[in-house]
Parts: sequence; C-alpha cells; structure tokens
Amino acid sequence: KALLLQPLTEQHDIVKQIQKHHQPEFLLSDIEKGLKNKEFIPYFQPQINLTTGHLHGVEALVRWHYGGKVVMPDSFLPVIESNQLILPLTLTVIEQTLEQMLRWQQAGLPELQVSVNLSAAYLDQLNLASLMPDLLKKYAVRPEQITFEITERIALDGENQSSLDAITRLRLKGFYLSLDDFGTGYSSLAQLNQLPFNEIKIDKSFVLRMLSSPISEAIVKSSISLARQLGVRCVAEGIETREIEEFLVSSGCDIGQGYLYSPSLPGSRFTEWAITYQEQYSGQVLYPTVSSPN
Ligand code: C2E
Ligand code: MG
Ligand code: MG
Ligand code: MG
Repeated sequence: KALLLQPLTEQHDIVKQIQKHHQPEFLLSDIEKGLKNKEFIPYFQPQINLTTGHLHGVEALVRWHYGGKVVMPDSFLPVIESNQLILPLTLTVIEQTLEQMLRWQQAGLPELQVSVNLSAAYLDQLNLASLMPDLLKKYAVRPEQITFEITERIALDGENQSSLDAITRLRLKGFYLSLDDFGTGYSSLAQLNQLPFNEIKIDKSFVLRMLSSPISEAIVKSSISLARQLGVRCVAEGIETREIEEFLVSSGCDIGQGYLYSPSLPGSRFTEWAITYQEQYSGQVLYPTVSSPN
C-alpha cells in the first residue's frame, strides 16, 4: 500500500542539470539586490520519522527567485560566501522560516522540527546565539524546535576556534545541532568529538548508491550504528525509492528525507502536502514488523 505521494519534480538531478545549463547569468550586484528584495526564499522538504511514519519536521532549503527562474543554492552560495553576504542570507532564511512556522501552526499542523542550514564560514560574525532569542520571541518558537545543520565548506578545526565557539553557544541556548553531509569532506569523525552535535545527517551520495555499492552500504550502516552508540539522532537524506527506505528502516535509521516523500516546496504548498500526508497516513505504522527472519 503506497502511502504517498507526490511525483518527482524540479529537484530531480536531471532537472537540476538542465537548470544549470540554462542558468541565468548574474552579477554580484544582482545578488545584493535580490537580498534586499527578498528574492531568496526558503523552500521546505519534509522529514519523516522512519519508525512511526509520522511527519517529523522540515529542512529549509534556500532558492533564489531570479529573472523568472528558480536558481538552486549550489550556483549562488559560493558567491554569497566569498563576498561576505552569508549573514544577510542566513537571516532572511531564518526569519522567513519562523514566519512560516507560525502559519503552519495556524493551519493546524502538528509541531514540526525545523532544520536550517548554516555555513561554517563567518559563523562567528553572525552572532546568531544573541540574535535568535528576540526572533524566537517574535514568532513564539522555542529553541528546541530548531536544528541547525552545520554545512562545512571550510574546515572547522582548532584554527577556527571562534566559529566552534559560535556553534557551541547555539547549543547552550537550547538549539539542536546536526552534522550535515556526514562522511564527506571535512565532516569527519573528529568533528563529533569537537562539537556537541545532536544529530548525524548521512550524505545523500551514500544513500543514493547504497543498494548498488557495498562501500556506500557499509558507510550508511556504520553511520547509523555510530549515531546509536553516541545516542544521537540519525537522519538519511536522498531517499528516492521504497527499497532504500525499507533498508534504512530495517537498519534502524531514525529520520528520512528525500524525493520519495517530496522535493522541497514553497511554504504554502508544503502546508497542503503535509495535510494530505497526514490524511493518507492517519496514524498507521509504516512498517509494523521491522525485523523479519531473513
Ligand atoms: P544539504 O543541506 O545537504 O541539503 C540536501 C540537498 O539534497 C538539497 O539540495 C536537497 O534538495 C537535496 N535532496 C533532498 N532529497 C533528495 C533526493 O531524494 N535525491 C537527491 N538527488 N537530492 C535530494 P539543495 O536544495 O540543492 O541544496 C544544496 C545545498 O545547499 C544544501 O545541501 C546545503 O548545503 C546548501 N544550502 C541550502 N540552503 C541553504 C541555506 O539556507 N543556507 C546555507 N548556508 N546553505 C544552504
Ligand atoms: Mg542540510
Ligand atoms: Mg546534507
Ligand atoms: Mg549537502
């Protein structure tokens, strides 16, 4: 019995590739203008509790509405990061996300865990730990409802003590921390030791290949078991098929995210998606028997 769902759309890799080739040219000044005019908009992708099937939360993923197109973050984030514009970008994403949380609440959705991506770059200058309390008050949100996913484009090591401090201060204020893109780049085991993470987020490159590559499978399985042993939440992104979902469920992964459920959607469309999901799901357990012999 299929539980959901929405067709794969704009975020399929093929679509992304096509968009990349037909990407609008833009200048730094277009980005600056876009930030002022609120052209950078968070979309929201659902996260599902793999044990119960409940809607767990969302990840906010920024898109740029520019020249009649929807521009994906991989094409503008590097420009934003290298021109010290990550601060206004992060703030606009957070504020619009909090606004949206209020609307979901008004629409009668259950309380959602909301994940926001942070670039490690310039985190110390952002001083989020002192900015967040006022924002949270304004939208009546508690820190425990927000998870900050730390995306590393720069090394988070001893030389970057002020960024490490900035992240730790967020945890001290009660926000949750997720180690994004786990298994790639600088996201290493050592990071787990340095920062008080609450969640490991397995990179989609491993999840996508899990059923065809024994190495990816091993990485996914050991990440799940590592999360278990550390007592932190384990999230898998890039779930595109029911087979992969089943594998993750039987391996004990806590939370799942991917096109199988939905690509990221604008806030109001997410509301509709969530209402439909709840109706279809209506409290049934996704996989009542997780471990069957063989
Ligand atoms: P991420 O944080 O690792 O986000 C997951 C990416 O995987 C997203 O790409 C999402 O659309 C994509 N994805 C989700 N499910 C599937 C699936 O089933 N299959 C496949 N093939 N892909 C899937 P997106 O939206 O293009 O974002 C790319 C990266 O940009 C993010 O990776 C994150 O590092 C960064 N990013 C996005 N929004 C923000 C933001 O507001 N602030 C910052 N600093 N970085 C952001
Ligand atoms: Mg992320
Ligand atoms: Mg990731
Ligand atoms: Mg990523």
